[in-house]
Amino acid sequence: MLYHSTRNHQATVDSAQAVLSGLAPDGGLYVPAQLPKIDVEATLQENTMAMAARIIGAMLPDIPNMETLVDRAYRGKFQTEELTPTVDTGKFTVLELFRGPTSAFKDVALCMLPQLLTAAKTEKGMQEDILILTATSGDTGKAALAGFADVPGVKICVFYPDGGVSAVQRAQMVTQEGNNVAVCAVKGNFDDAQTGVKNIFASAENGRLPAGNKLRLSTANSINIGRLAPQITYYFKAYADLLHRGQIKMGDTVNFCVPTGNFGDILAGWLAKKLGLPVGKLICASNANNVLTDFIQTGTYDRRRPLHKTESPSMDILVSSNLERLLYFLSGDTALVADLMKQLNTEGVYTVPESLKEAILSEFWAGFCDDEKALATIKNVFEKQNYLCDTHTATGWAVAEDYVNQTGDNRPMVVLSTASAYKFPAAVLSALEKVEEMDEFAQMEYLEKRTGWEIPKNLAGLQQKKELHTGVIEKTAMLSFVMGL
Ligand SMILES: *Cc1c(COP(=O)(O)O)cnc(C)c1O
Repeated sequence: MLYHSTRNHQATVDSAQAVLSGLAPDGGLYVPAQLPKIDVEATLQENTMAMAARIIGAMLPDIPNMETLVDRAYRGKFQTEELTPTVDTGKFTVLELFRGPTSAFKDVALCMLPQLLTAAKTEKGMQEDILILTATSGDTGKAALAGFADVPGVKICVFYPDGGVSAVQRAQMVTQEGNNVAVCAVKGNFDDAQTGVKNIFASAENGRLPAGNKLRLSTANSINIGRLAPQITYYFKAYADLLHRGQIKMGDTVNFCVPTGNFGDILAGWLAKKLGLPVGKLICASNANNVLTDFIQTGTYDRRRPLHKTESPSMDILVSSNLERLLYFLSGDTALVADLMKQLNTEGVYTVPESLKEAILSEFWAGFCDDEKALATIKNVFEKQNYLCDTHTATGWAVAEDYVNQTGDNRPMVVLSTASAYKFPAAVLSALEKVEEMDEFAQMEYLEKRTGWEIPKNLAGLQQKKELHTGVIEKTAMLSFVMGL
């Protein structure tokens, strides 16, 4: 199946090459020239892994043996064989995406990506090993490490800002086992680490490091279509759950509210709809960094504003990369997309044509929720619905409520839950009650006693695990660190 860049439809590659390359050579993102068709009713009757094989297989047909790859990616790694269970809270249905090995929603995609990459590598006859290089502000790093650990033919190196991630996030990363993993703190902030990684990529020619190094560079970030495709599955899974519970009949439309950062998660929902799933409105929830809310409401994307640091840090983003794919899908116009992205780069702002704005509004709704409201929502949902949300999920919940209040649309609502409450224990605890100061691990235990909700196993044992990666380097030493791998 052919993929091309969002900025030029002439340069095509097959789906295996799109996964291997990640980004198109012109800086655009890969999109399928034509969306595949699947048998929706048959797919909805499958278990989650068979669903995943069908859906990912349809999106990436040039990668063979999808059932085997899905099995290797997920079997035994999630808390439940359902992978992404749903909970009926009596008000909204919560789709729990955080039951994976690191308690983050990114596990769903990052368990699968290594399998897709290595299969694509074999398919294309690539000889060299791949080096996945990532700078992280917290969550992505650990999910990528867990996904890539001990995968043959790949190494992974994660840089994080020294003192710039939470104690739990640091512990998750520095205790990572696996003979192909490297983790290192960088003196500086996240931007320094990120810039260091970008410089290493810039110094590489065609993905090759200097001085005869044999590794080929690649990234695990969410612009890769191999990260997007696995996320389509859980929209089908949630719909199937509502069917099995008798809450909907086949063909009824369901709304989904998605806590959004880079626009990958919600775009997967839109793709699910295009594959034939009866999806109603897709509701885009932001925190105080409400660039997307403004964009969807007005058609003007304006990144010229300060970045706020919030209690939902995985959504603290000013440029949502995957939006570019939606602009292409709804306009079909690569020249337009190339022009808008150029404006974003040079001016920091662009406005889409009226017809494109209308097309977006017909399928999406957007709202935002600040920290204060998110914390109040955590308390409220816990007391009234007996459900413990993290800060990202609470943002989604609050925006879903606004949507229902403002539109009166009472179709079933699924709120995507993107993290375990135990990944953000300080904020969640502060929402429930005022407590004295304690470290994050003590907060987790206190929260468990207070709520009766169990700490996920992968987080509970962290403090006892051996620290394996304690290095801290200057930001100027990042390249030599990588060359030594
Ligand atoms: C990454 C992340 C998001 C945002 O997802 P996008 O696909 O980037 O929109 C939301 N919540 C959590 C907890 C995340 O880690």
